[in-house]
Amino acid sequence: MEQITACRVCRSPDIVSFFDLGRQPLANSLLPRPDEPEVFYPLSLRWCSSCRLVQLDHTADPKELFSSYVWVTGTSNTAQEYARRFQAELARRCPERDGYVLEIASNDGTFLAPFRDAGYRVLGVDPAQNIVRMAVSNGIPSVCAFWGNETAESIRKDHGPAHIIFARNVLPHVANTHEFVNGLKTCLRDDGILAIEVHYSKIILEELHYDSIYHEHLCYFTLRSLERLLNGYGFLVFDITTSPISGGSIVVYASKGERSEEPVVQEYRDRENRSGTNERKSWETFAEQSFRHREELLEMLRDCRQHGTVIGYGASARSSTLLNFCGIDHTMLPMIADRNPLKYKKYTAGTHILIENPDVAMKLNPHYVLILAWNFASEIMDFLEKQYGYNGHYIIPFPNQPLLRNSGQPFLSLRA
Ligand SMILES: [Zn+2]
Repeated sequence: MEQITACRVCRSPDIVSFFDLGRQPLANSLLPRPDEPEVFYPLSLRWCSSCRLVQLDHTADPKELFSSYVWVTGTSNTAQEYARRFQAELARRCPERDGYVLEIASNDGTFLAPFRDAGYRVLGVDPAQNIVRMAVSNGIPSVCAFWGNETAESIRKDHGPAHIIFARNVLPHVANTHEFVNGLKTCLRDDGILAIEVHYSKIILEELHYDSIYHEHLCYFTLRSLERLLNGYGFLVFDITTSPISGGSIVVYASKGERSEEPVVQEYRDRENRSGTNERKSWETFAEQSFRHREELLEMLRDCRQHGTVIGYGASARSSTLLNFCGIDHTMLPMIADRNPLKYKKYTAGTHILIENPDVAMKLNPHYVLILAWNFASEIMDFLEKQYGYNGHYIIPFPNQPLLRNSGQPFLSLRA
């Protein structure tokens, strides 16, 4: 793992450390056995005083991180529903169907399927071999490769430039930020449009999503830092929509040529300026609040364990940071339920908690379910109550303060 010496976007050496989450294992490196040897790496954030990008201090080897990535987009209902909305929003801004739609980090093809169904030609690129095989068997043509100049050149040579390119939740995860965006430039038609989705740093800051900090998540973009990066490659941001993914994301639409900028873009810029989203002080406060949140959550968990069994739900990458940062391990949480079969019978990195099918986990008759995948809380609560008649309590760690609630209560926050 390498430590950075300059900003990942603007290359300024003036990058200030403000939040150290300690040494942590790679979030997705689930263990086949709890006694498997593990490596722990530094996890800490810096803020760039020039472009204001918040970013990880260290970069892990991408081959180690992504080649057998276990996250499958299609396992979540929220993702399926959002995929259709995403397609409609993008198609509205680019209705022509004469070219093809290219998705970078296309995973199992969940987000390309609605384009194919609407009559677009589609192509996916993803580095995880097992997941590319799933996409291809679902009828989504996909290339197994890391995105960069070489892949961009080869796709342009074989297929010509794309008329729509989209990259959802991948740009913040790549170490070669500049090569990634340059590849997009190479592969997009001059009249095409680009859509980039990122977990929005303004929401991370305001709702205290410190669990979204993990080794794969290298850059924490605001509109300001993302726009600076895109402008450097001749892309102009002309529109923004919101996305429910990750607990609050934005989709930024950009073009190579001039298009009239929607008023919403300036509204985002103004809101970031007014609320200090890009300021060092705000992020230092975020770090202090995260340490306080840890104490509150641990206290709540200690209380609950005195009254009955607690299990976790959702062994996501984010849950790994929360568990490791708070020191919640197998002695406090006997099991985590997850609906992704690729994770069954594995153990969480660093904290060694067994992951099981919900059918198995619910046999423990939990009194409390700690919803680690809290951004899917309403979907999870609904599932547990309908499928298992669960009538116990929930611990919902985010947004903001940890919250204890009973089953059967309406849940109002619908962000996923
Ligand atoms: Zn910078």
